[in-house]
Amino acid sequence: MKQKKIILPESEIPTEWYNIQAEMPTKPLPMLDPKSLRPITAEDLYPIFVEESARQELNQSDAWIAIPEEVREKYRMYRSTPLVRANELERALDTPAHIYFKDEGGSPCGSHKLNSALAQAYYAKEQGVTNVTTETGAGQWGSALSLASRIFGLECAIYQVRVSYEQKPSRRTMMQVYGAQLTPSPSMSTRAGKDVLTRDPDNPGSLGMAISEAIELARTTPNTKYLLGSVMNHVGLHQTVIGLEAERQMALAGEQPDVVIACFGGGSNFSGMIFPFLRHTFCDDATTRYIAVEPSSCPKLTRGRFAYDYGDEAGYTPLIPMYTLGHSFVPSAIHAGGLRYHGGGSAFSQLLRDGYIEAMDVDQIESFRAGMLFARTEGIIPAPESCHAIAGAIREAERCKREAKAETILFCLSGHGQLEISAYEQFIRHTLTGGSPTDEELRAGLSDLPEVPACAIN
Ligand SMILES: *Cc1c(COP(=O)(O)O)cnc(C)c1O
Repeated sequence: MKQKKIILPESEIPTEWYNIQAEMPTKPLPMLDPKSLRPITAEDLYPIFVEESARQELNQSDAWIAIPEEVREKYRMYRSTPLVRANELERALDTPAHIYFKDEGGSPCGSHKLNSALAQAYYAKEQGVTNVTTETGAGQWGSALSLASRIFGLECAIYQVRVSYEQKPSRRTMMQVYGAQLTPSPSMSTRAGKDVLTRDPDNPGSLGMAISEAIELARTTPNTKYLLGSVMNHVGLHQTVIGLEAERQMALAGEQPDVVIACFGGGSNFSGMIFPFLRHTFCDDATTRYIAVEPSSCPKLTRGRFAYDYGDEAGYTPLIPMYTLGHSFVPSAIHAGGLRYHGGGSAFSQLLRDGYIEAMDVDQIESFRAGMLFARTEGIIPAPESCHAIAGAIREAERCKREAKAETILFCLSGHGQLEISAYEQFIRHTLTGGSPTDEELRAGLSDLPEVPACAIN
């Protein structure tokens, strides 16, 4: 039998990230200033963002960007991550497909998020920033940034979505172990939070809301910058270490993927996994399919609209051209907290619009059923977010069986679920629920989009 698990030597950890914006046939539409509706520049972002991150965000000319040696040094803590052939899962599904997964769950924080947290914290330190602030849903981004801040000597303040704060005490503690200061969102400590709590004291919070609070803190506190864990193009850029390693590992396995799959929250693990492969579609006419899997409860890719929208609830960010459910949309409290975001980011959304990428939605129950099968075959208990990618891979493997095709399927296991064990407990006791928003509910969110002249979209 061929090798089960492929790990690259440290010397083969990538030295550059891949910037897909430089090679996209149709460039993403510009982000707009919400008042003047003029395209924003990197300088416009400096008051809130770290300068190097802002420049990377808008860089449409350099396809390869060097990874600073200090960051690459820290990547050695856990990279390369393994590429694994899921033989037992294949057997259980009785499929002719070959299934591989790239396991990002072995990082110290248990997910892919550290790939960008380390880069962003490093650039903040280099710029002389002392304090950073952010939002977190399930807590994976928060724990990654807490650790990265500790490593590079920054103070870190985090707004955690209230339902996650209450549902996930272990993640909360993890962030505190790394030394971050935590506030459940919405909170009374910001104007944005106060506005919401006054109207609705039981508001469960959303990522959009927590982002508003973190930005407000960055704006009003000296030497403080706001760092984001997803959605933005520079975050997807940092995550391309995943796909670049996977590409090399697949070659060592002697296979080319026919289908590449990742779950989709704001798109960072998807972008990181897929973009390095997608570049061959631009230049060599490769026919690989790329599938983003989202939860049915937050279906921005399959049922949302391509429009200019804010990245946050209160409307502090620039207008971003993306698939969105509207910045005021609050999805139900599913366990995959990292997938409860209303929009899809600009580079990714343009690629979806241009037909390079497919999207599928998966109900919470189907996702956990997939996660259970994966745990019982491959041994790893996956993060609730990653269960969506697994469900997508299983659907594709079942299609291969019906069509008697031995295709190669590769998916990103974005994280492990050992701190999310209570969600599995609910699944086992049949107390977990599924479901998706009604058309009515989606209309409400979409009716609240900012006014932008239609010509800006075409
Ligand atoms: C945050 C998170 C996600 C979703 O975020 P993306 O930016 O879409 O990748 C998925 N899986 C895990 C394990 C996460 O922590």
